[in-house]
Formats: sequence, structure tokens, C-alpha cells
Amino acid sequence: MPETINIAGRKVHLGEIEEVHLKIARLPTYTNINLPVHIYRAREDGPVLLLTGGLHGDELNGIEIIRRMINSGLILPQRGSVIAMPLVNAYGFLQNVRGVPDGKDINRSFPGNKSGSLAKLIAHTLMHQIIPQIDYGIDFHTGGASRANYPQVRCTFSVPENKILAKAFGAPMILNSPLIENSFRKAAHKKGKHILVYEGGESLRFSEHAIQEGIDGTLRLMKHLNMIDEAPEQNEPSEIYLKSDWLRAKYAGLFVSIAELGQDIKRKEKLGHIAEPFGHEEFEIFSTRSARIIGLNYSPVVHKGDALMHIAYDLEK
Ligand SMILES: [Zn+2]
Repeated sequence: MPETINIAGRKVHLGEIEEVHLKIARLPTYTNINLPVHIYRAREDGPVLLLTGGLHGDELNGIEIIRRMINSGLILPQRGSVIAMPLVNAYGFLQNVRGVPDGKDINRSFPGNKSGSLAKLIAHTLMHQIIPQIDYGIDFHTGGASRANYPQVRCTFSVPENKILAKAFGAPMILNSPLIENSFRKAAHKKGKHILVYEGGESLRFSEHAIQEGIDGTLRLMKHLNMIDEAPEQNEPSEIYLKSDWLRAKYAGLFVSIAELGQDIKRKEKLGHIAEPFGHEEFEIFSTRSARIIGLNYSPVVHKGDALMHIAYDLEK
């Protein structure tokens, strides 16, 4: 851990708690939007852990996970430091959208560019102001659109330490997920920093289950990193999946799932149906393999090819 953490010219020493506001960009209304960064430093030495929420502005569970940890004081480490950014994309949050107002996705804009679009500017700020200060990170997400994710940690198993960290977090599911081009996780990885992606629930909705698993997992990771002494036990053992697929709609229509998020399914099991809205036809949906449902589309209206269920398989024993 560095002697001082230096963010936007503010020096934060051991034993100090600070809130720094990063100046990013103005809205077209000339309203300034600053990005609040909370820094919690214990007196004792230890790693620096970054918590980021709301990189996608409509994904609220992560914002609530970090907010509750701040509010309850659980965020305070006994050793080391926590840098918390509950809401990275305030711009998208204001409009209930994933990206920034020009439609670009921050999580596909890394490592960013100082003179680029707003998404690239935010990415650039994170890479220059925050990433050099940290050792580890958890980036909190939910499913996109109306798709809900069962609480899961995603990381690439090609980096052995990632898997150890994911196991320490102890989410119900751990998924091998290759690094996505221009994502925050990949850009941080190139700088030698380990970032886990936590996914739980769906956009624009709170999931108590996903929020609680997120808080508990963060505390378990902090304990693993020797930042705190006590952390909650796992509610369910982690299952590690090597592969996952999307089950997609073969027809457009009204989708009803009889299978639930988190459920184990067998090959050829009936999972639900897609109905034609005028009452003539109903097409049944069957499982293509034995798997577990780790993501589920809650939108009743689906188009041909839409993602219905995310299923994981190839369980690591
Ligand atoms: Zn997301």
C-alpha cells in the first residue's frame, strides 16, 4: 500500500477518510457533474480495494451495495484501504440508461481518451486517477435490459489469482468469462490489477438477494485480503462453471418461463413457451442440455433470436 493515495491532487494518508470529487464534464445545460470518490484508509498497512457501481447507469444493485456498506460502516477496513465509487455513470443514471447521454457504453470505451467522447473521458479518468492507486477491484453490475442474473462473479480463469479471489468472494456462482475488448476489467488487467465483475439482479430494480450476496461477498474478499477479521459465511456453496450459452427465442411472441432463475434444468425439460398473442399458437421451449439457469429474461415480449435464458454448464468438481 502506498504511503499516500493521491487522487485529483488530494493526498490521503494512512488513517484518513476523504471524499474527493473528480471533475469530468458538463452536461449540455452547462451543469457540472462531479464524480464522488470515497477513500477509507486504515491506520495499518494493507491492500487497496476499489469498489465501483453504476458504470452502467441503469444497474442499481451495485450502487445500493456500496451505499449500504458506506452507510453501515462495513466499508471501513481494519488494514489497508477501500476506494468506493458507488455511482460512476451519473449521466446514465439520470436518464435510467446503461450508457452516457450520447449512447456510448463506458464499459466498452477503455482505456479511454482525454479528448474523446464522454464515455472515453470517464474511462480515461478512471485509468489515470484511480487504477494506479489500487491492487484489487470489484465492479458491480446487473443483467442488461430486462434480463436478471443470479448472483455470480465473472473472471477469466486464465489468470489463476482471479479464481482464488472469486472463490474468496464466494458468490453462489463463479463463471469463467474471457476479458472483453475495451472493458474496464481488461484495461485494469493490462495494468496488472485484478478486477472481479459481480453480476446480480436486473437493471432498474433492486434485488435484495443480489444486494445481500454482493455485500457479504465483498466482506469475504476483504477478509481474504486480511483487511478485516470477520465476514459472513456463504449462504450457498459456490458452483464454478466453465461454459455458458444463451437459449434464444425461435419465434417472436409472448414469452412465459416456468423455470426459475437459479434452477437446475435437465436436457429436454420443458422450460416455458412462446405464445402468439391472438390465442392461436403456443410453442413450447425445451432445454437443450443439463445446466443451471444463471440469467433469465423477464420481458414478456420477445423477438426471434432474443436471449431468453443464460444457462451455465461444465461444472468444475
Ligand atoms: Zn453492466
